Formats: sequence, C-alpha cells, structure tokens
Amino acid sequence: MVKRETRPRGNPADYGYPTPDREALAAKALEVTRRVTARHGPARFSSRDPLSMLVNIILSHRTKKEENAAAYRALRERFGSWEGVRDAPLPEVEAAVAPANWPELKAPRIQALLRRISAERGELSLDFLCDLPVAEGAAWLGRLEGVGPKTIACVLLFSCRKPILPVDTHVHRTSIRLGLIGPKVSAEAAHPLLQALLPDDAQTIYNFHWGLLRHGQYPCVWGTPRCRDCFLTDLCDYYNTVVQPRQPRDGETAPPADQ
Ligand code: SF4
Repeated sequence: MVKRETRPRGNPADYGYPTPDREALAAKALEVTRRVTARHGPARFSSRDPLSMLVNIILSHRTKKEENAAAYRALRERFGSWEGVRDAPLPEVEAAVAPANWPELKAPRIQALLRRISAERGELSLDFLCDLPVAEGAAWLGRLEGVGPKTIACVLLFSCRKPILPVDTHVHRTSIRLGLIGPKVSAEAAHPLLQALLPDDAQTIYNFHWGLLRHGQYPCVWGTPRCRDCFLTDLCDYYNTVVQPRQPRDGETAPPADQ
C-alpha cells in the first residue's frame, strides 16, 4: 500500500479548510466526485510513458490542446526519439515546438531536462518512477528545475497511476466555490489539502480531477459561473451563500440588475 505523506495533520483551520469538519468535507468531496463522474464518465489513464508525459506537460503550459498536440507530434516526427531531441541543435527543437506558446523557453528547458535525466539515470527513461512509492517519485521529480506540484502529479497520476492529485486552474477555482478549500488557498497549497479529502485510490483521484476540470470549463466558468445549469448547487458554498440569497422569494420580483 502506498503511504501518503502529504496528508495534513492538526487543526484543519490551520490549513485553509473552510470548516473544521474534515469528515464532512471528505464526504462532500466524494459526493462531488460521484456526480461529476456520472456526468463526464470515468477518467482514462494515459498509455504514455512518464518521460513522454513530462515533455507533454511542459509543452501544454498555457497552450491550447490542439497546439500542444501539434508541438508534441512535431517533436516525435522530426527527431524520432527523446535522444534525438536531446542532441539536436536548439534552433531545430525550438522550430518544432513553435505551435506551443513560448517555444524559446520550452525548447531549452526540455533539452536541459533530457540531458539531466540522461546524466543521472544513464538512460533516457523515467519508467523507474512507477516502481517507487508516490512520495519518493514526487521528491525525485521535484528536484528537476521548473517541475512543480502540478507537473509532478500529472506525470505520476496519468502515466504511473499513482494516487496523487494534480490541481489545475479549473480544479482550484471549483474547489474554492464548492467550499472544499478556503478562498485564500493557492493552487499549490491546494494539492495536499484536496488530496487529503480523497481516498488513496488513483482512479477516484483522477475522476475528481477530470470531473472538476470539465466542470470548470462549464458551467463553473471563470468570471460568473452558470449556476442555473449546475448539478452541484446543493453542495456548493458559493451558490448557497452568494447566489441563492439573491434569488427573489415567492411573490417578489427580481431586483433591477444595478441594485
Ligand atoms: S453552483 Fe455555481 S459556483 Fe457552485 S459549482 Fe455550480 S456553477 Fe460553480
């Protein structure tokens, strides 16, 4: 069984939970997971190896899905292997990843990571991460320059099926609105907090991530969420403390928009 060392201990309020009742929050997180999974289907693990996933996640940073896919495909087709990418002239790698945003930053970063992994491991592979306990794998990846909690969790969850939660902007925003974490909790700090509410089960964790990602694309969008189209209103702190009190009661008319 994988030992999870990121579970916070002590008073939940110290960690940014909106209520001290962590059991109730965990029950809410599970019910949210159940509903978003029923709506969007279970998440599907990737067949990509961890090194390919790492490169893909770096390319995906602030880049649309189609552009990310084009940059990744170009790297594979043009150089044939990660060794080929590592040893290619930088301008050629930069040209290949040009469909992604900031190719001038991503190309040298990818090459530097490939060189470091080769030097440390004697081969270009991160498959060994899948055989390590999740905390050890996360610590190994976290030593690499520019590899943060979200990237670590994506590689270990998507490719290695380890029970570790990535928190992207959608998961972060929707979790705050639902009241699973406090409004001032950063996305980085949200990783262990949200994970502590979920069971040590990779599929459940991935379903939570995938479901809230989809939920954050619609209806829980950035700006004004489309709560009328939401199936989580009864679980949502934002809805019950901000949206619902504004609704007109029976016999009342809605106030003008500028009041
Ligand atoms: S009720 Fe509104 S704020 Fe709450 S999760 Fe649904 S869309 Fe988001």
